Amino acid sequence: MSELSQNFRCGIGYDTHRLAAGRKLVLGGVEIAALRGPVSHSDGDVLSHAIVDALLGAAALGDIGRHFPDTDPRWKGASSKIFLEEVRRQLVDRGLHILNIDSVIVLDEPKLAQHIAAMSLNIAAALGIEPSQISVKAKTSEGANPDIAAAHAVALLSGSTA
Ligand code: MG
Repeated sequence: MSELSQNFRCGIGYDTHRLAAGRKLVLGGVEIAALRGPVSHSDGDVLSHAIVDALLGAAALGDIGRHFPDTDPRWKGASSKIFLEEVRRQLVDRGLHILNIDSVIVLDEPKLAQHIAAMSLNIAAALGIEPSQISVKAKTSEGANPDIAAAHAVALLSGSTA
């Protein structure tokens, strides 16, 4: 294996939850006023979940379901900040560093532009990185998928796994 491929590792993450009335909408740790929110065991934060999966994927550490199973009562209603912080610990333990994360939220309503900066700050704080290392974007499904919240994320790490 070349030195280059040992030192850079990319990962991809995706998450989606169905929306229902009477549920809180939390994205990147920001609670957003909305008529509906995700049906989920934890807080249903699809952005944080996609980022967790991208980071775990880059480190070849499995997926969010393996680390935080939705059958575990500890994670019922849990803030996804806990998941981000735990993944951060696992990366640090292995000498892996986050270079950058890019992400896209897909949600028809409400519009998210005014909340993006706060999401980036929250995620950066939970992961111990600078806000400039995390990009959060948002778009709608153009009405094709109005009943779900979804997020995609990619992460680039430096360091090598044993
Ligand atoms: Mg999820």
